[in-house]
Amino acid sequence: MKVFVLGLDGAPPELVFGEWLDSLPNLKKLVGSGLHGTLESTIPPSTTIAWNALASGQDASGLGIYSYTYREGNKTRLYNSLHIKARLLWDILSDAGKKVTVLNVPLTYPPKKVNGHMVTDFLTPDASCEFTYPPSLKQELHAFLGKDYQFDATDEGLGGYKSVEKTQLLKRIYEMTDIHLKTLKHMLKKDWDFLICDILGSDRMLHTFLSYYDKSHPKYTPSAFGSALPEFFTYLDREIGEILSLLPKDTLVVVCSDHGIRKVLGKINLNDWLMREGYLFLKAPLRSPVKFDFSLVDWSKTKAYAIGSYQGRIYFNLEGRDEHGVVKRKEYESLQKELTEKLTLIPDDKGKTLETKVFRPQDIYSGPHKDKAPDLFVYFDNLVWGVNNDFGNEGLHSQEDTVGATDGGHSPDGLIIVSGPGIPKKDLGRMKITDVACFILDRMGVPVPREIDRLGVWHALL
Ligand SMILES: [Zn+2]
Repeated sequence: MKVFVLGLDGAPPELVFGEWLDSLPNLKKLVGSGLHGTLESTIPPSTTIAWNALASGQDASGLGIYSYTYREGNKTRLYNSLHIKARLLWDILSDAGKKVTVLNVPLTYPPKKVNGHMVTDFLTPDASCEFTYPPSLKQELHAFLGKDYQFDATDEGLGGYKSVEKTQLLKRIYEMTDIHLKTLKHMLKKDWDFLICDILGSDRMLHTFLSYYDKSHPKYTPSAFGSALPEFFTYLDREIGEILSLLPKDTLVVVCSDHGIRKVLGKINLNDWLMREGYLFLKAPLRSPVKFDFSLVDWSKTKAYAIGSYQGRIYFNLEGRDEHGVVKRKEYESLQKELTEKLTLIPDDKGKTLETKVFRPQDIYSGPHKDKAPDLFVYFDNLVWGVNNDFGNEGLHSQEDTVGATDGGHSPDGLIIVSGPGIPKKDLGRMKITDVACFILDRMGVPVPREIDRLGVWHALL
């Protein structure tokens, strides 16, 4: 059986299955003919981790990646495809002799050899590098599109879209999405057994225009951008109709998102809080906010620091693991406990208690790369409050950081729709993103590796 996976990056189940569904006739038809439900993202619900969890059946501790960046001495490095330790669907299927096509899936750059085709994702440096497999596909796409491939809505690097003027950004998101959809339709004509394509545009739209749409958002003001979000999804739905008509008969169709989106009311200045509480020390005082930088930290005294934008990832400066580690191994769990207690007491900007969750890696991970995990994860108010990791802000709360403002952040609830031969119509409630890979392999007649075999979840449904 052929399997087609369409990623609507960041698409929230509440809106797509709720108030928008009647204006999305093609998605509505899929929902009405198959399974649909909430797809629970990874901890943390970060795009890079979640897509690779979907493609591998493994969580962050199996993949060995914990967001976009990792530390190397005093430098912040970006993860790339070579850091992923788990085998992905396209690796397993290629080895089984199936033809695969992989388009725009986060953290696929640099591209790797597959039995088929690959076009890499928004973390690709630019269109001048080698971003396809086979390499000749790059020229083919350039000739077909008549212009360079576009990986993200802007060229300003990670999160750069947040500082672009909204009218301009809207235009650029449509331009990028048009390129992604044209490429998808072009690649559908080639030989494939498994095709996965992520539409990044929906994530960029949701992050940018949620506060113009959601009347309960404190930043909401009536504006011409008010209809931008539903209009974008209506445009996607029209395109989906055309794409579905191009699929071979009896293809299994999976439409899904890696996480959802929810309003963000502001950010907690987490590194400033760690400084105030005596866990983090800088070498010199600051006069104005600066971007997080390892080289500013006085490691001889620092016990903990934080990285993050939506969720906070707190790392200890641990003896034996970190170069100038000061936290003793025997203190590890008591420091986790102490910080957890204090973090859950941080209020919002009006002094109201937040519904904050703190996760310890030893409770949530069992994969072979769990030793690389942050020492705590914090979700302020279930991610309604984000995290600012810049140093030197005034007070404990901020509306924007040095990257820009965020009105919409990630929620842990994505969506899934499955439709095709033998699939009944059913509301499947909740399912984990790591449960999807085994089902795809099984439907394609490829043996499921034991460590990701959760077919029992599916047998209970079908
Ligand atoms: Zn996002």
